[in-house]
Amino acid sequence: MNKPHIVILGAGYGGMMAAARMQKLIHSNEAKITLVNKNDYHYQTTWLHENAAGTLHHDRSKIDIKEVIDRNRIKLILDEVVSIKREEKKVKLKNQELYYDILIVSLGFEPAIYGIPGLSEFAYSIKDINSARLIRERIEYNFALYTNENKPTDGRLNIVIGGGGLTGVEFAGELINRIPTICEEYDIEKNLVKVYLLEGRDCVLYGYDDSAVQYAMNSLQSRGVEIINDATVKACAEDSIIYEKGGSEHKISTKSVIWTAGTKANSIVERLNLSMEHGRVKVRNDLRSIEDDSIYLIGDCSLNYDENGNVLPSTAQIAMQQGEFIARNINAKIKGKEMAAFLPDVPGRITSLGSDDGIADMFSRNLFGWKAALLKRVADNWYLFKLGGIQLLMKKGKFNMFH
Ligand code: FAD
Repeated sequence: MNKPHIVILGAGYGGMMAAARMQKLIHSNEAKITLVNKNDYHYQTTWLHENAAGTLHHDRSKIDIKEVIDRNRIKLILDEVVSIKREEKKVKLKNQELYYDILIVSLGFEPAIYGIPGLSEFAYSIKDINSARLIRERIEYNFALYTNENKPTDGRLNIVIGGGGLTGVEFAGELINRIPTICEEYDIEKNLVKVYLLEGRDCVLYGYDDSAVQYAMNSLQSRGVEIINDATVKACAEDSIIYEKGGSEHKISTKSVIWTAGTKANSIVERLNLSMEHGRVKVRNDLRSIEDDSIYLIGDCSLNYDENGNVLPSTAQIAMQQGEFIARNINAKIKGKEMAAFLPDVPGRITSLGSDDGIADMFSRNLFGWKAALLKRVADNWYLFKLGGIQLLMKKGKFNMFH
């Protein structure tokens, strides 16, 4: 292959890490590298629940791509990917087409709505900066309307979070901490506001052990979150959500449903005609798609297994590792060396329950409360350091324990 063209789609955790490492490893004589992203910024998806709750301004979660990417080395195209034409080895963007020799797809996730009627029309999801901002504004708008209505609409102050996984729980923890401030701002009595967390299983945070789940539930409930387990969401409408529990249907009147129950790969990859499972594309252990040697998938677009055959969760932790790994592997390929197999390193999980509370299981040890919250700050800062060195860390890092 003459100097190959490597195209990276998406500047999320996976894509940014891949680009940042490739610019160091691969010489300009060896390959041309292009990074395509919708926006001129990378965002911290793992902070979006704070932006959505309004406890952290969304500008804090944005990182200017140009601060990390050396544009003498990597061509940055700000455009939207429309489709990938595998047969022609081309990517169709809104404003142009690109030919690739090696394609790295790191276009992230979309909410999975499992065909539940009304969710796509009436529920909100935490997907990116603008969707997080919309949720914050939606909640505030309803508070503002409430105080201005002669006869307030039923459920105007009810906020329903659908899904008690990591995102739903983290969002609930942030939101419930913000409620007193919004109430004060809009002259509303705090006890009129209800935050519900609906979970289909018999407990939130599936996968954590009982003591961690219990800790998280106590923490949220003591601050006023009503957790409803074994609740299967059936439908969502403009003014309500319906769920089934114990064989009967229940309705909560609400104008604010935030759907956090699951993700799938960006729908662009669904149209690639590659083997998929659990809404993601199956990859070989070097992260190439099974059917196409030129296409690599990383982060939430790809489906990986650990050494015990368990599906790896869609996390920033894994996406970053895959980004770094793919840079090394493609560097090896270009230099005519063998590619390696991806081995995930998952020391544990950290879930925040607000800025000063959380749970973590790291290296088979549970941590609760401020210690877990502090660990989460350290992990956030570590990522910034890895991506953009001390400069990015000092600019965007979280050094204040309680925001
Ligand atoms: P993303 O980071 O989502 O990046 C995708 C990129 O592609 C974005 O820049 C996007 O703008 C761009 N893009 C998308 N479509 C197009 C298009 N058509 N054209 C051009 N560009 C496009 N994981 C953890 O490990 N720890 C956590 O604590 C954690 N907390 C989370 C909290 C929340 C609220 C959420 C939503 C997720 C959390 N996750 C966490 C999961 C984690 O954020 C994802 O697994 C991770 O972002 C996946 O990285 P990625 O590179 O695959 O995609």
